[in-house]
Amino acid sequence: MTVSLNDIRSTFLGYFEKNGHEVVPSAPLVPRNDPTLMFTNSGMVPFKNLFTGIEHRDYTRATSCQKCVRAGGKHNDLDNVGYTARHHTFFEMLGNFSFGDYFKEDAIPLAWDLITKEFGIPKDKLYVTVYHTDDEAAAIWKKHAGLPDERIIRIATDDNFWMMGPTGPCGPSSEIFYDHGDHIWGGPPGSPEQDGDRFIEIWNLVFMQYEQFEDGTRRPLPKPSIDTGMGLERFGATMMGSHDNYATDVMRDLIEASAHATGVDPYGPQNVHHRVIADHLRSTSFLISDGVLPSNEGRGYVLRRIMRRAMRHAHLLGAKDPVMWKLVPVLVRQMGQAYPELARAQKLVEETLRLEETRFKQTLDRGLSLLDAELATLEEGAELPGETAFRLYDTYGFPLDLTQDALRERGRAVNVAGFEAAMAEQRAKARAAWAGSGEQADAAIWYDIAEAEGVTEFLGYDTEKAEGQL
Ligand code: ATP
Ligand code: MG
Ligand code: MG
Ligand code: MG
Repeated sequence: MTVSLNDIRSTFLGYFEKNGHEVVPSAPLVPRNDPTLMFTNSGMVPFKNLFTGIEHRDYTRATSCQKCVRAGGKHNDLDNVGYTARHHTFFEMLGNFSFGDYFKEDAIPLAWDLITKEFGIPKDKLYVTVYHTDDEAAAIWKKHAGLPDERIIRIATDDNFWMMGPTGPCGPSSEIFYDHGDHIWGGPPGSPEQDGDRFIEIWNLVFMQYEQFEDGTRRPLPKPSIDTGMGLERFGATMMGSHDNYATDVMRDLIEASAHATGVDPYGPQNVHHRVIADHLRSTSFLISDGVLPSNEGRGYVLRRIMRRAMRHAHLLGAKDPVMWKLVPVLVRQMGQAYPELARAQKLVEETLRLEETRFKQTLDRGLSLLDAELATLEEGAELPGETAFRLYDTYGFPLDLTQDALRERGRAVNVAGFEAAMAEQRAKARAAWAGSGEQADAAIWYDIAEAEGVTEFLGYDTEKAEGQL
């Protein structure tokens, strides 16, 4: 049977609809209800106020396929792209939710039956984790799924205890893993080798059953709730017989489009660059279609960083002309029906990418030459001086993480403290210049506000630090 990500999405939503869940469309990537969060990074974000009881709707069970971006904040997978087979910056999270309706004893069977019966995943490939004290969940897995004890792994770390924030709803979680076989490196959860891609987490079930208070005490919630998240691309890869998200139909089409646009073999040694381009194309296109535009601050700067990173990978493929915008029609063909906002924004996405790529191209080429020349003068393994990284940033428009990405392939790092010192020095100079300019009143006030609010080139990083709510 050939399956597609589109089929899997429909089957998942249809299954929960059949089981009494309201099908709720994906919310935008820019969260409406949470100014502290940079991007929607999981399926529960739009439902946050239902879990805390601030908001009520006329349903108590919901299912959704939520657009997510994890390129900053507590969940930052930007640096994983191109290095693991299972992380994207943009992905779709399928989920089912109970707002004080059913709890563990129904959530576990619902999940198990969907993957083993509806999707036909063989039971002997599956492992689950539970929080070490959650005997209840372990017993349900044993009884309903018939899993032997050694496949119900007890984990004592925060990985299996979820908290909405320092206070508020929280509870143990349970993760479902698929074993892709010993030809792939990696160990089961809880083992020292679990970072590999052999045992892949496909679905995370959260059992919200306590409320945490400021003094650290916890009280049971009167009506416990359920929040689950399954990565569409990870589950899709599994259904398509691979451990690799980039082997799914949508990602393959994009990788092949990138190969076509650059004339470089899609599955040869340069494959990693195609992967990064395919991944970053999705995050940038979806962000733009949700109203984010590249800029030097806040969300726009995160977008710009992702775009520019991708452009360096296109450069490494030898692309002479802008590449990213040419892949947009392929993405729209694959995903435009499920996400009409993407189809509507196609022209804007193409133009934004083309403009940014054209503008950045010249300074990218010159900056990379400067970087190469600088590296040639450094001793083996030495850090790149912070001042050089700052010059690349200030004169050539290289976001710090682009420089770091370029160095990582060569086993080097940036001296970040030096970079920050150079940045601080420039800010101090700018402030002094304003103070003596005669129009200082307005400018200085603006600058103070900007500093206080963190509205600087680096709002991206600053806000991310403040984030961490999820
Ligand atoms: P991992 O430990 O593999 O990084 P996670 O525990 O951070 O995953 P969750 O926050 O539990 O992930 O998200 C729920 C589900 O969303 C995961 O089980 C996985 O299927 C999927 N998922 C999470 N992060 C990504 C990502 N960066 N790209 C693709 N899918 C993801
Ligand atoms: Mg993660
Ligand atoms: Mg995990
Ligand atoms: Mg998880």
